[in-house]
Amino acid sequence: MIRLHNTLTRSAEPFVPLDPEGKKVKVYTCGPTVYNHAHIGNFRAYLFEDLLQRHLEYRGFEVERVMNLTDVDDKTIRGAREHGIPLADFTKPFKDAFFEDLATLRIKPANAFPAATDPEHIARMIAMIAQLIAAGHAYQADDQSVYFRIASFPAYGKLAHLNLEELRPSGRVSSDEYEKENIGDFALWKAHDAADGDVKWDSPWGPGRPGWHIECSAMASGLLGDRLDIHCGGVDNIFPHHEAEIAQTECCTGQTFVNLWMHCAHLMVDGRKMAKSAGNFYTLRGLRDKGWSGREVRYVLFSAHYRLPLNFTFEGLAGARSALQRLDAWQQRITELAAAAESSTPHPAAAEDKFAAALDDDLNISAALGALFDLVRDTNRAMDQGELSPEQARGLLDYWERLNSVLRLEPEAATIPPDIAVLLEQRTNARAAKDWAKSDTLRDELLKHGWVVKDSKEGTKLTRTGA
Ligand code: AMP
Ligand code: ZN
Repeated sequence: MIRLHNTLTRSAEPFVPLDPEGKKVKVYTCGPTVYNHAHIGNFRAYLFEDLLQRHLEYRGFEVERVMNLTDVDDKTIRGAREHGIPLADFTKPFKDAFFEDLATLRIKPANAFPAATDPEHIARMIAMIAQLIAAGHAYQADDQSVYFRIASFPAYGKLAHLNLEELRPSGRVSSDEYEKENIGDFALWKAHDAADGDVKWDSPWGPGRPGWHIECSAMASGLLGDRLDIHCGGVDNIFPHHEAEIAQTECCTGQTFVNLWMHCAHLMVDGRKMAKSAGNFYTLRGLRDKGWSGREVRYVLFSAHYRLPLNFTFEGLAGARSALQRLDAWQQRITELAAAAESSTPHPAAAEDKFAAALDDDLNISAALGALFDLVRDTNRAMDQGELSPEQARGLLDYWERLNSVLRLEPEAATIPPDIAVLLEQRTNARAAKDWAKSDTLRDELLKHGWVVKDSKEGTKLTRTGA
């Protein structure tokens, strides 16, 4: 049984999907605001979500995940104006860079990456706002903007655990981000003003643009339905963003929007949150220019428990590099031994699967990696003493490949030398001719040369066994 910490109840709860068959899981993850290159703090959040998705899949769930791109808000509009270019031209390179960075970090792409400015989503935002006004949950103010009336939703504050009586909400807030001390009715639709330039859409309340919070409510419910299993983000999203999402969506649907809210702690630098606004940030590109690889950054960002703040340091990255070298050397060693195997003998560690049991416990990655490195130490010792048979090594390799479907820590793909390409081609032909014996012989031949060949629905993949 998987247990996950719910921000709403502040406790770890057994995970049970909404799907009556217990298989499909709907997950919404707040994506980047594309006004700059995402920094590695943002990627800590996306990597925690990747670990969550991959572990759920390891346990047999089918995850449908949506990640939005916020391509219209106060910050993107300001950026476009400063550069004197249309909003879409301003955000495009940051969107492209984001997808490149996701691939570098081996983050599994979401099923959909809706952009807030897609006409279908703008239409849904407008429809939701109209519905909220009709039900008395929202109103148009003198400034022509439309605001959510927080007094109309008694549960407002339930996610962030706010006591509204103490905070005494008053007035209205028009900006998307504010502290809880400034709590008030928040903007759903912002009337057009001169600072917005040509960024505007027609609406029943005049020209304007959506607030950031209604964007996520509309994209989440539009693509995944009225009820979600899990909604994720960084802790800074809890208030006001996710609190507002709950209020807007639940007032439209009359149902509980999200069963499980999960938030990751911040990536810090010298004790402060890594943030674009603080200027204390590193980008993936910057780290790659310094010689660090995507998988090293992946490792360092997801190897600490997601609910603990993580201090980013270069010593941490160096530690990731040596941990990966250990894993690579071990994998190469068992691969070489497995090359002589006639069959596969399941390794006892696979049945025990301490790794997955640790992840079942609110994604306890530190314990999971601890179990993996214990296995590395023990099996290295067994190989030193000649106590691991090729068949057991093959079984161990099979188990490692399963674990690696969660971890994705294999060495970077290298270019394929011509003699290897020939072997691969021969194997592809053998498979096409259903000559399985020949195909297996060629697979072993490739292994002897240090290449692992893997077949899946997506096709055949060749990876280097060593570094
Ligand atoms: P933003 O682009 O600022 O809207 O942030 C995108 C995502 O990254 C959100 O889920 C944030 O909560 C998360 N995030 C931003 N800064 C950090 C940080 N320093 N550490 C972890 N997550 C962060
Ligand atoms: Zn969001």
